[in-house]
Amino acid sequence: MNNLIPHYLPQPQTTYRHAVVIGGSIAGLTAARVLSDHFDRVTIIERDLLPEQPTHRKGVPQGRHPHVLLLGGLRVLEQQFPGITEELHTAGAVPFNLGSEARLHLLGQWRVRYHSAYTVLAVTRPLLEETIRHRLLANSRITFLPGLEAIGLCTDAANTRATGVQLRQRNGAAWQIEADLVVAADGRGSRAAEWLTALGFPTPHETVVDAQPGYATRFYRLPESVRHDWKAMFLQPLAPDQQRGALLLKVEDDQWQLTLIGMAGDHPPTAEAGFLDYARSLVAPDVVNFIQDAEPISPIWGYRRMENRLRHYEALPRYLENFLVCGDAAYAFNPAYGQGMSVAAIASMKLDDCLRQQQGDLAGLAARFQKALTTVIDAPWQLATGQDRDWQDGDDAPTDRMTRLVQGYIRRVLLTMMVDPVVAEAFLAVQQLLAPPTRLFHPDVLWRTLRPYRRLTSPSDARSGELVGSATADVLA
Ligand SMILES: Cc1cc2nc3c(=O)[nH]c(=O)nc-3n(C[C@H](O)[C@H](O)[C@H](O)COP(=O)(O)OP(=O)(O)OC[C@H]3O[C@@H](n4cnc5c(N)ncnc54)[C@H](O)[C@@H]3O)c2cc1C
Repeated sequence: MNNLIPHYLPQPQTTYRHAVVIGGSIAGLTAARVLSDHFDRVTIIERDLLPEQPTHRKGVPQGRHPHVLLLGGLRVLEQQFPGITEELHTAGAVPFNLGSEARLHLLGQWRVRYHSAYTVLAVTRPLLEETIRHRLLANSRITFLPGLEAIGLCTDAANTRATGVQLRQRNGAAWQIEADLVVAADGRGSRAAEWLTALGFPTPHETVVDAQPGYATRFYRLPESVRHDWKAMFLQPLAPDQQRGALLLKVEDDQWQLTLIGMAGDHPPTAEAGFLDYARSLVAPDVVNFIQDAEPISPIWGYRRMENRLRHYEALPRYLENFLVCGDAAYAFNPAYGQGMSVAAIASMKLDDCLRQQQGDLAGLAARFQKALTTVIDAPWQLATGQDRDWQDGDDAPTDRMTRLVQGYIRRVLLTMMVDPVVAEAFLAVQQLLAPPTRLFHPDVLWRTLRPYRRLTSPSDARSGELVGSATADVLA
C-alpha cells in the first residue's frame, strides 16, 4: 500500500502552530488532513489503540455494519488524498454501477436496471479508515497519540479561549496538551457540550428525530458455483407500512455483508433463528435465497442507537474561542441513508474555507465554522429526517399544505424513478450528495414525474428488475 502514497511535499505555508483533534475516526481524520495545510503541527488524540491492519475497534462499534461511501464523500477524499480511489480498489474495495449492478426494491417493485453515470465503491469501514489513516501517517505534520482519552478542555486565564486538552492515559495518569485550536470529533457520544457547560458556556440545544431504526449484520461468503450479476441489493423500508428492509453488499475479500434493517422499533434479532425468520418476512424472497446459497463467516451483530441528532452549535449565544465541534459530535444521521462519513468529509472542506478566510489569529473562527457547517448539513438532514419524521412516535406536528404537496411530489419521484432512468439518475445525484435536493424539481424531472407512468408489473420485472437500457432510456408509457 505504501508505494501508492504520494509524498506531501511541498506542503503549503502554514499560518498557525498547533491544532489538536479529539477522535481519530473519519471526521477527525479528514479534519486533521485539512488542518495540516494551515498548522505546523496537528495532533490526533484517540482513546483506542490503533490497529496495524484493517480491523474492528472498540471506539467505532458501528464499524461492523455497512458503511456506504457516497460519491460526494469519495470525491472529497480523492481531493484530499489523491489516488485514494485507486488505492481502495487495489486493496479490494468493490466498484459497482448504481444503475446496473445495484438492485433496489421500493414501493412494491424492483427498479429497472440501466447503466448509470455513477459508479461507487463498496468497502468495509475498517479498510476505509485504515487507508485514510495510513495516508495521514505519511504526513510529516500529523502525529497520532493513541490510547489517550480527552476528559476536558484547558482555557486561558480569562476563560474565553481554549488553550489545550486535558487527557487521561490508559493507566489513569492525567496529562495535558497545549493547542492553538482544539477540534472535537469524538462521535455521537461526544462530551464537548458537557465540557462547555463545565466552563460556564451555554449548552447547544438538540433536535432529535428518532425513527427507532435497528440493524443486524452478518458477513457471508458464496461458493464458487454461485455467481450474481449484481453487487448490491437494497430492500428499502418506507413509511408508513414497510418497516423491514435489508442491505446486501459485496465488499473486499469476496465477502458479502448483509444487514437486516427494522424501523419504528421493529428490530431484527441477532439470534440465528430469529435472524432467518426476519429475513424470510421481507417483502421479496431474494435475501433468504441469498442466505440459503451462502456460508456465514461471522456472528450476527446488532446496533440500535441510530437516531438523527443535531446539536445546534451554530445557535450558541457565546462561543469558547479556538474550539470547534464537527462530525457525529455535532450532527448524527440515521445511517440507513449512508451519509455520516461523506458529510464529515465535505464538512472538513468547510473548515478549510473558514481557515482560508480567517484574518490574523483564530478569533471568531468558532462561531464562523459552526454557522458555516449548517450549509453542509441542511440537505442531508432534510433527506434523513423528511422520511424519519413519518416513523417517529408522537410526531403529530401539523403539516402545512406546501409540506404535504412536497411530500406527495417526492413520493411520486420515488415511484417514477423505479421505471424511469432519467429520474433515477436525478435522485441518485441528490442521494449521493452531488446535487442539491432542488435537482428533483428541475423541469426534466418534474414533467417526467407528473405525467402518467407505467408501473412495471410483469413477473420477471417484478422479480429481478430487468436491465432496460441507459440513463436516457424512456420506459414511460
Ligand atoms: C450502525 C451504523 C452504520 C453506519 N453506516 C454508515 C454508512 O453507511 N455510511 C456513512 O457515511 N456513515 C455511516 N454511519 C455513520 C458513521 O459511522 C459516522 O458518521 C462516521 O464514522 C463519522 O463519525 P465521527 O468521526 O464523527 O465519529 P465516530 O466514527 O463515532 O468516531 C469517534 C472517535 O472518537 C474517539 N473518541 C471518542 N471519545 C473520545 C475521547 N474522549 N478521547 C479520545 N478519543 C475519543 C472514538 O474512539 C472514535 O475513534 C453509520 C453509523 C452507524 C451507527
